[in-house]
Amino acid sequence: MPTILARGVSELGLDLTAEQLRLFDRYAVSLLSAGRRAGVTAIATRERVEQRHFIESLSVAKALLDAGVIEKTSEWRVIDVGTGGGFPGLPIKILLPQLRLTFLDARERTTAFLRELLRSLGIDGVEVVTARAEDAGRDPAHRERFDVVLARAVAPLPVLLELTLPFLRAGGHIAAPKGSGTLREIAASERALDVLGGGIVSSEPLKVPGGVHSQRLVLVRKVARTPARYPRRAGIPKKRPH
Ligand code: SAM
Repeated sequence: MPTILARGVSELGLDLTAEQLRLFDRYAVSLLSAGRRAGVTAIATRERVEQRHFIESLSVAKALLDAGVIEKTSEWRVIDVGTGGGFPGLPIKILLPQLRLTFLDARERTTAFLRELLRSLGIDGVEVVTARAEDAGRDPAHRERFDVVLARAVAPLPVLLELTLPFLRAGGHIAAPKGSGTLREIAASERALDVLGGGIVSSEPLKVPGGVHSQRLVLVRKVARTPARYPRRAGIPKKRPH
């Protein structure tokens, strides 16, 4: 019987080498042991890890490749904001090793887990930052430095736009997989897009083999510079979204 990962990868039309499959295997083992202990994931079974974390993340990669937002051979600079256990960024990095990836999360327990995981998987050249997006987005080391922002399950779209658009260079993209309320969130984001310099590119249904069918991938393009006063200080985007 092929695993959920192998079946999903094949349904997505992607290829993984034996070495990449080995990395996913060790990633799953770490998540289910150290990751659960650190509160990085609540998921308790191998099947759910493969479906909810690996296949969903790889579905995002497939959609981004199809849309031309990332390319197999380009060294895009990608930041995964509110990454938790590395989703969707790390499965995408395992698939496309040339990506230059930064993980950002506010929780020290999470970033400590990721650092140790990357060390044990032997994945080099990935930056791990412990900070709130509101603070990192003002730091010249991170502001306007990225081609793509990934963010899954971090905040409703009007808030997420303020947390993520500052990281992008002009013309860069946010890729945010979203659940059943996506279209409502987009409708509520008109002002935030306008103020922060974003434009919705698409919100196509996300094809997730074996998964729920209500997901969409929201793609936002940075169409203008984000004014220097954004992001506002930590907590304000959530308390008073545009
Ligand atoms: N993206 C992962 C996933 O899909 O499995 C984790 C999702 S988890 C529900 C949300 C994560 O976002 C948490 O790890 C939390 O610490 C982080 N987070 C929430 N708000 C944040 C902020 N303003 N700055 C940085 N990280 C944040």
